[in-house]
Amino acid sequence: MSEKNVTSINLYCANCGTKLGGAKDVCPSCGRVIGPEQYAAIPRTGAAGVGYSEITGHPTFDAYRKHTGKVQMILLPVIAVVVFVILLLIGAGAAVSLVSAALLLAIMFAIAAAKGRKKPDWQGTVEKKEFTRIKRQGADRYTYKVWFRGEDGKRRTHVWHQHSYVYDYLEEGDTVRFLGSLGTPNAFEKYDKSGDDVIPCVCCGNLADPRYTYCTACGAILLKGKTAQ
Ligand SMILES: [Zn+2]
Ligand SMILES: [Zn+2]
Repeated sequence: MSEKNVTSINLYCANCGTKLGGAKDVCPSCGRVIGPEQYAAIPRTGAAGVGYSEITGHPTFDAYRKHTGKVQMILLPVIAVVVFVILLLIGAGAAVSLVSAALLLAIMFAIAAAKGRKKPDWQGTVEKKEFTRIKRQGADRYTYKVWFRGEDGKRRTHVWHQHSYVYDYLEEGDTVRFLGSLGTPNAFEKYDKSGDDVIPCVCCGNLADPRYTYCTACGAILLKGKTAQ
C-alpha cells in the first residue's frame, strides 16, 4: 500500500514549531533539516501511536481559538445593522422604532454570544461516510459528510465543504473524539493511530507526517498517542 501524501507546505518547523519565514534548508531555531529526511530512521506508519493526546490545552491552539471567536463577534452585529437599514428602506419606517431596533441588536448579540460559546467535546465511532457532488456555476462542488455514533448513543454528523483531508482520514469503525472546545471543524483525533501513515492537524486540517511534532502548514502541535518504544 502506498503512503498517503502529506502537506508539502513548510511554513513552520516540524520539530520545534518555529515560523520559518521563507524557504529554508534547516530550521534557524533548532537546526534540524526541513523535510521528512530528518526522521528517515523512524518508520512513518504508526509513529503517532495509540491513545488520546493529553496536550489539548497547548498554547499553539490559542491563536485559533481567539480568531474564530472574534470573527463571529464582529460579523453578527454588522448583519444586525444591515437588517435594520433594510427594514427602514422597505418602508417599515413607522414600525421600526428605536425600541425595536435595540431589541434586534440585543437578539443578534445573544446569538453571537451563543455561537462563540465552546462546543462540547465528545467521543464516538465512525458509522458512515458519503460525499456528494453538485454543479454550481459550471464548477463541481463537493460536500463530505460523516455520521458518528456517540458514546452517549446520540447520532452526530459532521460536514466539510472546503477540503476532504479529515474525511479521507476517518474510516468506518474508527473510534474518535471531537474536541469541540478547540473551535475548529477539523478537531478529530483517532484513538488508535498505530496504522496511520498520516494524521490531520486539528487546527488547519492538513495531513501531516506522523513523525512530526508540529504542523508545518500552521504551526499547531500535532495530537499523538503513545508509541511502543
Ligand atoms: Zn525547529
Ligand atoms: Zn495545521
